[in-house]
Amino acid sequence: MALLGGTFDPVHDGHLHLAQDVRTGLALPEVRLVPAADPPHRGGPVASAADRLAMLRLAVHAWPGLVVDSCEIDRGGKSYTVLTLEALREANARRPLLLLVGADAFHGLPTWHRWGEIFELAHVVVAARPGVDLARDMPDALAAQWRARRVTEASALRSTPAGAIYQQSIAPHPISATWIRAQLARGKAGRDAVRGLLPPSVLAYIDQHHLYLPTSPPPQDAP
Ligand code: ATP
Repeated sequence: MALLGGTFDPVHDGHLHLAQDVRTGLALPEVRLVPAADPPHRGGPVASAADRLAMLRLAVHAWPGLVVDSCEIDRGGKSYTVLTLEALREANARRPLLLLVGADAFHGLPTWHRWGEIFELAHVVVAARPGVDLARDMPDALAAQWRARRVTEASALRSTPAGAIYQQSIAPHPISATWIRAQLARGKAGRDAVRGLLPPSVLAYIDQHHLYLPTSPPPQDAP
């Protein structure tokens, strides 16, 4: 079972291609997209959990093999990945669990709650992200794990339930939710700029629900 956690605020093509490229690269039947309820490592999401979940459900329609898992939103509280993996591990002690992360999230792993235990619960599959140098920016504690756990044969992810780090190559998609939100907050010009970076159904949802609008009205011209 493979998971891609995230804020998905909003879901964009970078997330979808990451999940799909890893799915096909590793011949996985599905990848589960798991939106965080209350992400512990950042300011709160801009959109509500219900809106982020609804956008994800719309997004995966066009992506067979990608499914949405609302377990962290249903659980509520802090969305610690280690708790999600523990619950999955309790349900099945032997099946391999794969945690997918982009390079930026991978670099942040040592700040995650009980991060060392994540390797006891799952394999970590890391994918490149444009603008992030995987080798250069790796914190020392993570580099030690990388040296100890890195495997280059995908078969290692099937033969053991957890404990390996594997780098999967994916097509680069230089897209971030932060950039999309910033564009949408600019109004019409920004909205045109994000077209093609996220599914049309998600953009339509954003329009219908008036998400990511500027927080204050533009300054009025002096009379
Ligand atoms: P934000 O810009 O608000 O930080 P984000 O675009 O990074 O958001 P998240 O929901 O935080 O989106 O990311 C979830 C996961 O997807 C993380 O592991 C992240 O590294 C990965 N990811 C997001 N966008 C890309 C991308 N364009 N290429 C590769 N990985 C990505």
